[in-house]
Amino acid sequence: MTPPIVPFGDLKRQSAQIGAELAAAMQRVAASGWYILGAEVQAFEQEFAAYCGVTHCVGVASGADALYLALAGLEIGPGDEVVTVANACMYQVAAILQVGATPVFVDSDPRTHTMDPRALEAAITSRTRAILPVHLYGRLADMPAINAIAARHGLAVVEDAAQAHGAWLVADGGPRRAGAWGTVGCFSFYPSKNLGALGDGGALVTNDAALAERLRRLRFYGWGDKYVTIAAGGRNSRLDELQAALLRVKLRYLEDWNAARCERAGWYAELLATTPLEPPPADPGHVYHLYVVASDARDDLRRRLGAAGVGCDVHYPLPAHLQPAYAHLGYAQGALPHTERQAGRILSLPLFPELTRVEVERVSATITAALSATG
Ligand SMILES: *Cc1c(COP(=O)(O)O)cnc(C)c1O
Repeated sequence: MTPPIVPFGDLKRQSAQIGAELAAAMQRVAASGWYILGAEVQAFEQEFAAYCGVTHCVGVASGADALYLALAGLEIGPGDEVVTVANACMYQVAAILQVGATPVFVDSDPRTHTMDPRALEAAITSRTRAILPVHLYGRLADMPAINAIAARHGLAVVEDAAQAHGAWLVADGGPRRAGAWGTVGCFSFYPSKNLGALGDGGALVTNDAALAERLRRLRFYGWGDKYVTIAAGGRNSRLDELQAALLRVKLRYLEDWNAARCERAGWYAELLATTPLEPPPADPGHVYHLYVVASDARDDLRRRLGAAGVGCDVHYPLPAHLQPAYAHLGYAQGALPHTERQAGRILSLPLFPELTRVEVERVSATITAALSATG
């Protein structure tokens, strides 16, 4: 296989840029002799809570664990329903099933790809306990509308913010970031996320002190005092000192990196403006975890880009409600028309902070040529 002319992602570029700082952080942790739940995790939790604009942060082992622990911490379980979307891969669905609850899917808005609040209201039943929107591709779901519906029905809101570190929407006169809207926000620090560790990691953020305390116990076997289990359903899900130290370095660059992502999104919008591709709407506060365009000629375009050495991907090709493992939930083809239609049209183009202007021009020229060949 020939190496791609433009890669879909390249984490080496970021690590090289801040290599000396990362090495110093690793050295500091190695020399400390303390590797689990120590000063680095505590400092990162404070710094990330402040960044998100909340009072508490609990570091955990992954984004998937954060979603599970959020639901367990809210004591959601068998007999309960959690309303969510089907176009956001399957992480949050697995978490809902792991606590024994039932996922209820609603359609996504075809413009923003996030939860459609109009569909949400109709999906709420007497068994609904929580709403779980996903801030897909780096754009916040319509949180003012979702929070209003949650308040009206007395429901918890769990944000899946794994693709939206630093994304914001304006509320009550000022911008409010992802994780600061719901009852609890869940983050992943998988290496390719906007804020990524050099391994696995995750976090929960909340303004609820009692919930934060429960989450701290649940990530640590459910212990209160040492060897005394006071919370059932606990597991081992801790953020390492090493990853926390690395994340503290990277958090200082997050705003710059998000700005770089937005700048590159702007370049694509400019260079692809005359093509029939549907660009992602350039709403303020979007942090472009992914740059997702839509086209009826997606499959052909994807093939041509691949042949030309341009990395691209589809996030995600098969909606959750049609996944083989979830057939027992009883959704048929056609249940979520917008979600299903977009799954066949979306295409993610290379977008990361270190992507060069020349690379964006090369991708855009390849797309323009491919689309004119398609006719
Ligand atoms: C990456 C991701 C997760 C899972 O995070 P991990 O750290 O890989 O477990 C959950 N939700 C969304 C939307 C994601 O993009």
